[in-house]
Amino acid sequence: MPLVQMADMLHHAYENHYAIGAFDVVSLDFISGIMAAAEEKHAPVIISLAESHFEYFDFELLMAAVVRAAERSAIPVAIHLDHGDSFESAVRAINLGCTGIMVDASNLPLDENIVQTRAVVDMAHACGIPVEGELGYVPGVEGEDAERHPGDIQYTTVEEARRYIDETNADFLAVSIGTVHGRMKGEPKLDIERLAQINQALKLPLVIHGGTGLRDDQYRSLIENGVTKINYYTALADAAGRRIKDNVESETNCSYTSHLDGVAEAIQQEAAHCIDIWGCAGRAGSMLASCRPCAPVEHVIFFNTEKLNAAAIEDMMSEGRRVLGSIPGVQRVFAGHAFTEDSPYRHCWVVRFSARPVIDSYRVHPAHQDFADKRFRPYAGDRVSIDFEGCGT
Ligand SMILES: [Zn+2]
Repeated sequence: MPLVQMADMLHHAYENHYAIGAFDVVSLDFISGIMAAAEEKHAPVIISLAESHFEYFDFELLMAAVVRAAERSAIPVAIHLDHGDSFESAVRAINLGCTGIMVDASNLPLDENIVQTRAVVDMAHACGIPVEGELGYVPGVEGEDAERHPGDIQYTTVEEARRYIDETNADFLAVSIGTVHGRMKGEPKLDIERLAQINQALKLPLVIHGGTGLRDDQYRSLIENGVTKINYYTALADAAGRRIKDNVESETNCSYTSHLDGVAEAIQQEAAHCIDIWGCAGRAGSMLASCRPCAPVEHVIFFNTEKLNAAAIEDMMSEGRRVLGSIPGVQRVFAGHAFTEDSPYRHCWVVRFSARPVIDSYRVHPAHQDFADKRFRPYAGDRVSIDFEGCGT
């Protein structure tokens, strides 16, 4: 049961004064390297997928690999959408298996940031998923990492942070206190006093974006003042890129696999170094003992229908797959037929929910009610419905 509740994960780090790496992945080499580092160090880990990177990979395909990597691992893992752009992308990420969501509306005025964040929080909490919000602006200095509103840094203020958390109900807060996305130019200067005040005011897990390029003592100051999640990508990408460059320069052939040789190991080395500095090594055991697993729910319906012919049944079931599959917290919709003639029920739905709260939010969702009332229940009077909670992998 390596996928654990991300809120429990960050509270464990908050109470025990260490930080978990939220490493952004853009390929299978990143997933392999980061998971190998966390396993080598017996450390919990957050695999992050940034919406700003979706042009580099197919989100749905890479998510399948991340979910499988987490399932087969023995260390606690969370899967996070980094810098989610919209309500729709938050729903999509949850339905593909993310166990934490970041909503980044920090480019909007505070009032609008609050409205947008609140909408995502309400939806995600109804799916059993925590949300990270962002306040202030962490600028980007590289094209790859520059975000939607390039400009000067905007520091997070204590008053705004208090109001933002009160009104949005977000679980974690990304703060702007002097880091930058991408490569740091010159000596990094952090406003630790500001961070300490925000931590005193909120007393919840804080997040740092732009984790690359800080000194070890700066990481320690961040962690002492409530930072439990450090977003880290640029140095991993640089380590991978350097390795490819060396391969290209030393290889005489043009083989793709030769050029990628050792890339996962270079990423592993850099991630392992971070895990050591951030005090995260060796925490997997105590975290697993104190954190609740992510337990998906299978909503199972067996049914018979005498009012629909075979084509009408197929039509209804394919509509159900599409409609029900778009409801927040629905991770998979299986529709099938018994292949033995004597089975007491001829057809079934198996709908996977991200967590138990979805049982209630799904029931009252307009898309579900509409489909159930008009397309399903009138034709399937003979039916049984049971919810099963997962008990491990
Ligand atoms: Zn960021």
